[in-house]
Amino acid sequence: MAIIEVEDLRKAYGGTPAVDGVSFAVEAGEIFGILGPNGAGKTTTVECVEGLRTPDAGRVRVAGLDPLADHDRVTEVLGVQLQQSELQPRLTVGEALRLYSAFYPDPADWRPLAARLGLADRLDVRFGKLSGGQKQRLFIALALVGNPRVVVLDELTTGLDPRGRRDTWRLIEQVRDSGVTVLLVTHFMEEAQRLCDRIALIDRGRVTAVDTPAGLISRTAGATVISFTPSAPVPEAELAALPGATAVDRVDERLTVHGSDETVNAVMSLLARRGVTAEQLRVSDTSLNDAYLDLTEPDHDDRDD
Ligand code: ADP
Repeated sequence: MAIIEVEDLRKAYGGTPAVDGVSFAVEAGEIFGILGPNGAGKTTTVECVEGLRTPDAGRVRVAGLDPLADHDRVTEVLGVQLQQSELQPRLTVGEALRLYSAFYPDPADWRPLAARLGLADRLDVRFGKLSGGQKQRLFIALALVGNPRVVVLDELTTGLDPRGRRDTWRLIEQVRDSGVTVLLVTHFMEEAQRLCDRIALIDRGRVTAVDTPAGLISRTAGATVISFTPSAPVPEAELAALPGATAVDRVDERLTVHGSDETVNAVMSLLARRGVTAEQLRVSDTSLNDAYLDLTEPDHDDRDD
């Protein structure tokens, strides 16, 4: 069942389209990522889902409700992550949780929630004194305090160190595993690949693909790449004819063959038959990063030039 439906959403600022016909559906219980470069229209899209912006055209539903017409009911279903600036630095963790839980008709018990997010010993600490990771954990707690069915997290791990980011990812997975659907806005490929069940790739206000991370990766030419410098020349045409090979590149003596695991084995057999050794041999999987570059346009930041 789709808990968020977005159909042909459009929003322009001063005549310039920011969101230009975006459609996707988020299934209950998944971590759904909205991934794309800065300025792609991600935040505008989720703000329309949250009922914070009025679309120019299109249809948005959250648990069957219209975020604008049914705003009060949508806020009971949808947990939204606050921005840093929205929280008073002098407010303590406990005060913030108590205050925000009072906004909801059926709030979570905030003390166990704080404990779940590793904030039990920080209840008397002021927001302004928290570390970056603790602030992010508080934002997750505040987004969950209303007992929502869906939570929207926007660029949550920006500014965290690798450990803080990994801890936050684990928490987001726990949120999903507790039955809350997560809509995650990110421009970090690694984060989307690691966390998301499915991803909508957004570029220049349009969805270029909706798929699982593995599905997106498999769309790029050659999921496995083998590179080597042969000890004697090898005809590129023979490499290109190997099973599963999709492309062969050469830079000076160095050869790169794109294909599958089967291609890698076939390359090694071919070299063995010819008595050629592969020097500086490297085998790598295509990452979501490659898929992303394939599915988004270059020079995104130059579009207004
Ligand atoms: P993202 O979240 O992917 O970075 P945004 O939705 O924030 O993208 O922005 C999409 C485009 O709309 C950008 O070109 C941005 O400059 C523009 N934009 C966003 N908000 C406003 C606004 N309030 N007024 C004018 N232009 C805006």
